[in-house]
Amino acid sequence: MSTNACENVSGKGNSRRVKSGKITSELLQKIKASINILEVVGEHVVLRKSGANYVGLCPFHSERTPSFSVSEGKQLYHCYGCKRGGDLVTFVQEILGVSFPEAVEELADRAKMALPPEWKATGSGTEPNAHRSAQRERQSVAYKLNRFAAAFFHQNLTHLRPASEYFGNRGVGPELIRGFYLGAVSEAWDDLSHYLVSKKAPLDMALELGLIRPSVKSPRAGKAVGYFDLFRGRVVFPILNLRGKIAGFGGRALGDETPKYLNSPESLIFHKSKLAFGLFQAQKHIREKDEVILVEGYFDVLALHAAGFQNVVATCGTALTSDHLNLFKRFANQLTVLFDGDKAGVAATERAMEVGLDHGWVIHGAQMPEGMDPDELVLGHSTGGKERMSKILENAQPLLDSRIEDVVQSALSEGANSEKLTQAIKKIGTWLARFQDPIGKEVRLQKLEKRLGLSKKLIQDVMTTQSAHLTRSNPQARATPEIQTRKPQTKMKATDRILLLGVVSGNPYVQILLEAKPNLPPGATLQDLWENSSAKEFIAQLLMRPGLIEKMREVPDRLWNVLEHELGNEIGDGLGLEGGLDGSVRSVITEALLSQNPPVDLEDFKGAVFRGLYQLWARFSQRVKKSIAEAEVKKDADLQMRWMKDYLDVQRKMKEFTSFYDEE
Ligand SMILES: [Zn+2]
Repeated sequence: MSTNACENVSGKGNSRRVKSGKITSELLQKIKASINILEVVGEHVVLRKSGANYVGLCPFHSERTPSFSVSEGKQLYHCYGCKRGGDLVTFVQEILGVSFPEAVEELADRAKMALPPEWKATGSGTEPNAHRSAQRERQSVAYKLNRFAAAFFHQNLTHLRPASEYFGNRGVGPELIRGFYLGAVSEAWDDLSHYLVSKKAPLDMALELGLIRPSVKSPRAGKAVGYFDLFRGRVVFPILNLRGKIAGFGGRALGDETPKYLNSPESLIFHKSKLAFGLFQAQKHIREKDEVILVEGYFDVLALHAAGFQNVVATCGTALTSDHLNLFKRFANQLTVLFDGDKAGVAATERAMEVGLDHGWVIHGAQMPEGMDPDELVLGHSTGGKERMSKILENAQPLLDSRIEDVVQSALSEGANSEKLTQAIKKIGTWLARFQDPIGKEVRLQKLEKRLGLSKKLIQDVMTTQSAHLTRSNPQARATPEIQTRKPQTKMKATDRILLLGVVSGNPYVQILLEAKPNLPPGATLQDLWENSSAKEFIAQLLMRPGLIEKMREVPDRLWNVLEHELGNEIGDGLGLEGGLDGSVRSVITEALLSQNPPVDLEDFKGAVFRGLYQLWARFSQRVKKSIAEAEVKKDADLQMRWMKDYLDVQRKMKEFTSFYDEE
């Protein structure tokens, strides 16, 4: 293991680059250099060689013909369909839906490299460095132990007949059992404890994870300490985090044991409110469909998966929280709640809607037939269950609107009962007061005004009082953090794109760009040729480093690494580094670097430069015109003359660029 190597890397000469909790470019390069992007991508995409690159079906969008391209030489990927592109780190970030630090941890893990002590472990607070290293070490032991226990549970299925029969009866076949690594444990008190002791597993960690408990009667019996198991006589569901590591377990009683469902207790790696059962297995499908379907039970997840609805997850025995929403928002823009058709299910649906409102997220609701759960529907009706489920999901409605409609209808159906109406308005007022989306709120208000024949002002007043009420009764309801929305791939204008494609390809494009410099109007710089602000910033950084542009010409293939290395800590922590470059800029860069031919026609590039110059001159001309008018108002004839002369120069200059078009 290379703790020493890390010290060297973060040590001499580079220490000025080490910010608290950040990683040096050098260490990141080392980690990346020891992992082949083909191997990591290959775990998610079936790749085949095509020319210099590998191609496959994009894991980020739904497609039938491959437009996802990976270069082994350059260690980059680019999708010609959805335009996502980047390096190993961005791939891990996007495919696992994790942050930059989490992706680096994942890769460091894989490369078996130690992160520097000042590295801030995911989610950990402000403890000193030594503690953080120790904490990381303990977490790694914890995951290993859970994996070990999961293997034990899984293997039990080969001889625990009642458990495998139970799965069989509920329609959970071998494929699902493997895919979700399901398991079981006998009714004995200490099956797992016994196994862990015999394998010399770290028992203190097993205690901390709640897998086993100390047994009180043992000291008398002469044994040092005895243990008993948390899970007994149950089928066991491993709950994975986004990195596919087992954070904890859920267990369902096989017999009449209570509680029917039991989960691992909260621990250093198991935080119920930040995990969802099935999310690791479902994430690919969630991304493709841009929708998360949330169900109540573990068996619902399995049953829906088996029936082909694979973008399904369940919370781990808790109500939906803000943390869950943040988690889901990383993968999809729509959340559809599919809870049981019983009273508890309806109440849970309404609670979910309210948590969504705090985040300005209108959650959809799919209506189960009364008294039925999704698991029964799909498996129970051997014929037509799947089709019925499809219909139910298709008919999902924004919960806010369907609930408002329910309340309004019941208030109006009571005829002239004013009290009913009052209660209805108060209820709706409470929801709208929580709704953190001003536009969405206004739209509903206007509709309500018409529907109820009441003034908007009245409803707004109700909202204000309900809002005050809410803040008093639940101060946190007001202070929920903004949801990190899934970053859309911003569009870049054609001219910006052509210019960027050329420049990152080195010469002769860079030469043409540099030659345009003397033709810029006063006060303008080369980066002004771009409209996209991220592209502008990126080019500005490039232009500030003549040496870098030099390198780019020599080895355009290695541009990515050069940029990452040289600019890493300066432009928002650089490409692939934290903060990252805007996705659209990144996409153009990967497209250029993966292209097997010149990525842009030289004449097109020249045209784009000229168009850019023309635009800049046109803008300058407007300013001169304004100055002439101002001089006229001031009755300053001399000044006016000077500006007029400038104006003529500008017109001549513009003509130069116009005539270029005429030749085309
Ligand atoms: Zn794609």
